[in-house]
Amino acid sequence: MHYKRILLKLSGEALMGEKQYGIDSNRLNEYAGEIKQVVDKGIEVAIVIGGGNIFRGLTGAATGMDRVQGDHMGMLATVINGLALQSALEMCGVQTRLQSAIKINEVAEPFIRRRAMRHLEKGRVVIFGGGTGNPYFTTDSAAVLRAIEIEADVILKGTRVDGIYTADPEKDKNATKFDSISFQDVLTKGLKVMDTTAFTLSQENELPIVVFDMNKKGNLLKIVDGQTIGTTVNI
Ligand code: UDP
Repeated sequence: MHYKRILLKLSGEALMGEKQYGIDSNRLNEYAGEIKQVVDKGIEVAIVIGGGNIFRGLTGAATGMDRVQGDHMGMLATVINGLALQSALEMCGVQTRLQSAIKINEVAEPFIRRRAMRHLEKGRVVIFGGGTGNPYFTTDSAAVLRAIEIEADVILKGTRVDGIYTADPEKDKNATKFDSISFQDVLTKGLKVMDTTAFTLSQENELPIVVFDMNKKGNLLKIVDGQTIGTTVNI
């Protein structure tokens, strides 16, 4: 296998499937199946899950809500998604632990780096909920931060598009996809991979990012097997 320890970033919106809000159980089970395939290969898997399918602080702020309150709601939303993913994974026989960046001890372990790494070594999938635990951040930043902390080989950003394009492929028919691109070129060309905070953290720590279509069956396994899927951002 190409990677030993991966951090998978799933957005909350990805869990909506065809729905407009919340969690689509079919989609959730599909993702659990995809994750199980790589766990069965002996890959150590950590997951950061977003909360955009339930609540985003910025959306709250746009309607007059206090931003920090909204961000707290967003962080709780990621814990809800983490619980849902944990349940789906355990249903298909994958051992998991949910760790939260905000203390919510009855439902999730607190985030403890060493403990998270030990779980991974034992073959358990570790789901990180609660983002970074701080307002004004995103779960992309949480994903990069956790990936660096647990010494993951790569961050795999599962999205609805199959990689990074020269332009938005939904708007520009001539847009072409990159198989790989450097951090610097992403910045120079003004391409959007993650928010600036997350992207810079990844660049500074030389943590490669693979952007890929999580909805295509088998993609996750192909990536950990070393096949060229999606777009890899590297130094
Ligand atoms: N959030 C936060 N701090 C973090 C991570 C997330 O305050 O470290 C809040 C923020 O309000 C964000 C929401 O949680 O809008 C959901 O996370 P995100 O938007 O990253 O989810 P995704 O887009 O991946 O579904």
